[in-house]
Amino acid sequence: MSLKDLLDNNTDDSLSGQKWRILRQSIVKRLLSAGNATIAELSSELQSSVPTITKAINELLLEGYVVDMGKITNSGGRRPSLYSINPTCAFFLGVEVSRTSISIGLQNIKNEFISIDLRTSFALKNSQESLLEFCDLINSFIEDSSVEKEMIVGVCINFSGRINSMEGFSYNYFFSENRPLTEIISEQLNLPVHLENDTRAMAFGEYCEGVVDDEQNIIFLNYSWGVAIGIISDGKLYYGKSGYSGEFGHSTIFDNEIMCQCGKLGCLETEISGWSLVNQFKAALKEGKQSKITLNDNSDLQHLDIIAGAINLEDSLCVELVTKQSEKMGRYLSILLNIFNPDLLVIGGDFSQLGDYALLPIQSALKKHSLGLVNRDMKLKKSTLGLRAGVIGACCVIKEKMLSPLVNN
Ligand SMILES: [Zn+2]
Repeated sequence: MSLKDLLDNNTDDSLSGQKWRILRQSIVKRLLSAGNATIAELSSELQSSVPTITKAINELLLEGYVVDMGKITNSGGRRPSLYSINPTCAFFLGVEVSRTSISIGLQNIKNEFISIDLRTSFALKNSQESLLEFCDLINSFIEDSSVEKEMIVGVCINFSGRINSMEGFSYNYFFSENRPLTEIISEQLNLPVHLENDTRAMAFGEYCEGVVDDEQNIIFLNYSWGVAIGIISDGKLYYGKSGYSGEFGHSTIFDNEIMCQCGKLGCLETEISGWSLVNQFKAALKEGKQSKITLNDNSDLQHLDIIAGAINLEDSLCVELVTKQSEKMGRYLSILLNIFNPDLLVIGGDFSQLGDYALLPIQSALKKHSLGLVNRDMKLKKSTLGLRAGVIGACCVIKEKMLSPLVNN
């Protein structure tokens, strides 16, 4: 039994074969989206007779897609059985990789984590060795989990930077002109692989399992080492023509002569980002400002140290720097609000962990700089998934992709 068999649309192309396949898929889709159901409920909702639904359910039970949850309590008469999707009938692997770490999570079809490892140390380098080490880490994670590899339907890997999800190329890391990266990694993992931009996956994670209620037009801000946005329009991830939408951090808005990571001068990230925060912190120390965080020449200072300094140590310099940055962030975010008029703005990424130190300056700058009518229409929320947003988002992306035959029937 494999989910591929259930989703395979080419098994029997006779009219009755097609109808039967669609009915089985509709039952699974209904149990997945709206929870457990009795045969009578399925019969009424899917407009199919009770004997037909019973036959399909018996097949799905036998094949392991569905489980019998036992009889329900009702007011009298024969008590019907309640059926549920079998949580172990399919698994989805989400991977997020950053410059310094890798996070991996394995979810069952009901979005429950079987296993998750967050921010394991890993030095991402553009080399064949680094790519093989990356694949080894994923393979070891799968081996250590209690799940057989053949039960994993697919893997989604989030990278920062330019990703062409449709063609499977990553342009910032592990770029190969001749072959899509998805093909290369898929060969190493022996699993279907999908690539996604990290911010876009985080946005989708918040939409499916995080802070989003019923909002359908959302801007998700990933305020971390770099800065980017994920856009959800009418409930769908927005990619742009080739998948490069959301590169907010590389808008050249400052006249400052500071070289950005992308090679241009004066990008938003040169003054508002984790990496610029580190530079600002070092410059402030050189000017003689005091901090509880001590540095020597070999210190590999990360923006997370400064963020932790602001939260845990209430260090004046750290607080001052992140407050200044966040005010500026609010100012430039207001441009996006005026353009997109979203239902919801979600503040995510490492800076969202700062709570009020980042959120209040952003909020007050948004109020000051965006149009009143636009601001009044919009909710501002902090990410609830925090450090797990990327891995959850990757699981949601691959699940949506692999189950699309169910969604579209
Ligand atoms: Zn840039």
